[in-house]
Amino acid sequence: MSKLDNLLNDLVIANRILANEDVVDAYGHVSVRHPDRADRFFLARSLAPEFITRDDIIEFNLECEPIDAKGKQLYTERPIHGGAYQARPDVMSVIHNHSPGVIPYGITGHKMKPVMHMCATIGHEVPIWDQHQKFGDTDLLVRTMAQGHDLAKKLGKGGTCLMRGHGCVVVGPYLRRTVYTAVYLELNAKLQMQAEAMSKKVRFLTKGEVTEVAKTTSPANVNRAWENWCRKADRPYKE
Ligand SMILES: [Zn+2]
Repeated sequence: MSKLDNLLNDLVIANRILANEDVVDAYGHVSVRHPDRADRFFLARSLAPEFITRDDIIEFNLECEPIDAKGKQLYTERPIHGGAYQARPDVMSVIHNHSPGVIPYGITGHKMKPVMHMCATIGHEVPIWDQHQKFGDTDLLVRTMAQGHDLAKKLGKGGTCLMRGHGCVVVGPYLRRTVYTAVYLELNAKLQMQAEAMSKKVRFLTKGEVTEVAKTTSPANVNRAWENWCRKADRPYKE
């Protein structure tokens, strides 16, 4: 199989894993940049992630226009993906989700910080994007490229960004690592809430610790988690 075939198979599996790990439900999506064409990315047609198969994957340009929509309905929030790919040449994969644990942080402004080593890839601090600041009253969906660009600006150079009253975006240098970060972002949200209910003096990872963990989070590391999630989701694991 070609590099692209393998990547698109992984994209289908990523959808299943994210559903199985409760990062996405009927909503939320994951994309990958084309490995040979930096001006294209792949994302499924509008469908609950759990049911996505290879036939549902559609190619887009970075303005989020489909190359061939195959007559299918598309996700409205494609600009989240296109905005991140345009702003960040290093980003090879994007996830958008509304997992419940992250929502309280987005609406209270209470800072999310990594609580344990597996969560370090979320970054030392997680910014919050408030769509209302620039766009006023909307239905909160990221419908336009202007909104996608504004979100990408708030994401900055980091790997995660919360979206007030909506969810979050997670980006990464490769698909499996992005899935890894999305799963651990949700876990971090829950653990931080538990810890802060117990104590006002929670000791988060230091900035230096976050940097050190990021350096040692290798593809082999990430594959161990990926294999585990594949088995749990009843999907074949391929190194
Ligand atoms: Zn959304």
